[in-house]
Amino acid sequence: MKRGWRFELHDFYCINCGKRTMTLPRNAGHKKEKFHRKLLYCPYCKITINQIECRNEHEAHEFKTSFKAGVYKDECEAEKSNLDGRNRWSGEKQLA
Ligand SMILES: [Zn+2]
Repeated sequence: MKRGWRFELHDFYCINCGKRTMTLPRNAGHKKEKFHRKLLYCPYCKITINQIECRNEHEAHEFKTSFKAGVYKDECEAEKSNLDGRNRWSGEKQLA
């Protein structure tokens, strides 16, 4: 029974290190905006941070070009300061 289930493999790229972290099967019929973000764990950075979904080679290439140009730098810094904030907060809570 192969009918009714069509999927594509989409790659996810970390906005912190630019590496491909994950490949997930996605429903091919489901339309989503380009460069959809998903909060995933990056095994290279060892943090949970937004990953960019690339649906094909062309989008992957575009992401890599943008990443090198620093397009995701601000977003990434904002994400990381959120992480730091959470860590500091829990640290203070432990001290109290
Ligand atoms: Zn990373």
